[in-house]
Amino acid sequence: MRIMVTGGAGFIGSAVCRHFILDLGHQVVVVDKLTYAGNLASLKTIASSENYAFERTDICDIEAIRGIFLKYKPDAVVHLAAESHVDRSIFAPNVFVQTNVVGTYVLLEAAREYLATSKRQNDGDFRFIHVSTDEVYGSLGDTGLFSETTPYDPSSPYSATKAASDHIARAWCRTYGLPVIVTNCSNNYGPYQFPEKLIPLTVLNALHGQPLPVYGDGSNVRDWLFVDDHARALGAILGHGTVGASYNIGGRNELRNIDVVGMICEHLDRLRPARAPHRRLITHVTDRPGHDQRYAIDASRLETELGWRALETMATGIQKTIQWYIDRTDWWTPLRTGNAISSEPIR
Ligand code: NAD
Repeated sequence: MRIMVTGGAGFIGSAVCRHFILDLGHQVVVVDKLTYAGNLASLKTIASSENYAFERTDICDIEAIRGIFLKYKPDAVVHLAAESHVDRSIFAPNVFVQTNVVGTYVLLEAAREYLATSKRQNDGDFRFIHVSTDEVYGSLGDTGLFSETTPYDPSSPYSATKAASDHIARAWCRTYGLPVIVTNCSNNYGPYQFPEKLIPLTVLNALHGQPLPVYGDGSNVRDWLFVDDHARALGAILGHGTVGASYNIGGRNELRNIDVVGMICEHLDRLRPARAPHRRLITHVTDRPGHDQRYAIDASRLETELGWRALETMATGIQKTIQWYIDRTDWWTPLRTGNAISSEPIR
């Protein structure tokens, strides 16, 4: 298949592109604006592949997006481009509305026009996979899981814009017959994640002997999924998912934030004993407004219908992730400069 991957230079998008090209043999055209979160260095391992193409484009630019559909004639769109950081959405919601809501609308419209006007054979095979988050469901109490039928109840500007885009995507399926599938995934972690998110920020700050900020008492629970498991889920959904359906994606790896940070500290005590105990760096900071208490995903539809299973547990995935950040200073050093995060060398 020839697949347009929006946001392919981001954390999850780059993992998806590697999986599609290296494991599944698909052709990929990355459509990415290269915001602060986009990084061509994350695509280095596939950049020289004949199955790879890159278009630096804003998904809100309908003329450019139309042109890309005509130029590449994709068999599918996997739409990941988004503003993705909840904290940034609180301070600057405008760009979240633009990219996440308007950008998704533009892609859906351009896909609809493309299908209506192109003389594609096998039109019934076209798919538009809209990649979203479990944060659209709001917050859980101590028990229960989000299923695909849980009502939406977003708390942050980020999750509200993702919820809006999910509704628009479903409407384009029901009203115009665009073959859309929506996916709602839990928190991802793994290599190539921009170091503003909890796990890479904690690893890199700990390596630099800097404070490890934890919101409030750190009791907020997230359901962690290794990024390559997410990429495999999207590959399975693209291949065999039901048009018009939604799929929850999650790893059954619920952990409190404070325990995630503690786990990283324990690994680093072993790997970097000179700084042990790293736990002394933990600094509780004022909680994020509207901070959801708990997310937990019921992924049984994906597991039973498509036979997908998360392969990594948090225990194995976090070890791989920490080692990757230790090994790949070349990737993250430029990102620590100019992002309100110190770029001091590791001592
Ligand atoms: P990311 O911030 O790492 O990457 C986003 C990518 O989108 C970047 O490459 C950026 O340059 C690009 N982009 C942003 N605005 C754009 C625009 N207007 N036009 C074109 N490209 C643009 O994000 P991520 O963590 O990889 O998340 C990818 C998708 O998965 C998002 O839709 C996000 O909502 C969703 N998601 C993320 C998680 C998570 O834990 N990170 C969990 C569930 C769902």
